Amino acid sequence: MTSRTPLIAGNWKLHNTIAQSVTLATALRAELDGTSGVEIAVAPVATALHPVASALEGSPIALAAQNTHWESRGAFTGELGPALLADVGCRYVIVGHSERRQLFGETEEGVRKKVRAVQAAGLVPIVCVGETLAQREEDATLGIVLGQVDAALAGNDASRLVIAYEPVWAIGTGKTASPADAQAVHAAIRGRLSAVIGELAQRLQILYGGSVKAENARDLLSQPDIDGALVGGASLEAKSFTSIVRAAL
Ligand code: PEP
Repeated sequence: MTSRTPLIAGNWKLHNTIAQSVTLATALRAELDGTSGVEIAVAPVATALHPVASALEGSPIALAAQNTHWESRGAFTGELGPALLADVGCRYVIVGHSERRQLFGETEEGVRKKVRAVQAAGLVPIVCVGETLAQREEDATLGIVLGQVDAALAGNDASRLVIAYEPVWAIGTGKTASPADAQAVHAAIRGRLSAVIGELAQRLQILYGGSVKAENARDLLSQPDIDGALVGGASLEAKSFTSIVRAAL
């Protein structure tokens, strides 16, 4: 483990009613209150943000949003903006998740604008990058991932964000990058950040995501440039998410 404080973030995706979200948040809080040495966040569905914020108030678990528009107000039917996410109590916003890129047409330019808007609202973007299986098989992983990093950072403050490296082929599939393969990509991302912001890059958290579970978390998190995890499926149960948080200590 590095000297950076790890961050374990749960992405609840399109799961859980308000009542279920509050029950999960309350169970996490019961397990994790008093925990130090690791930062923790959960990203419920938008309708549950406010009640989960109340359930987590005063706990070490921060609130994250799964997405945002880049505008904070105006004629954008159906959207939520960073100012509203700050208002509801979010600290983090996940930006550019591969499901948004693949299923909802999220572009590099959209990701860049969202990073800017999230930072302008005083929140921290968790910027997701990652290659598809075809790209990995073509040996294009680093080019794709570093290209996504460059695009997200262009003109933005590279010192106030979290990067999540999530190989697309590992998300929700049960397949995980080997700790060594993940470390190689993380080191390359940190190298790219160093080229932009120098020593400050040593302070940034670079998370791994893709079928992280209690059983594989410790091996991944022990890599020098893996500073935490973005967790989907295993964040939906208090026991498994708590085990991953503890693996980061
Ligand atoms: C994710 O959605 O960011 C993710 C990593 O999902 P899972 O842990 O289920 O692969």
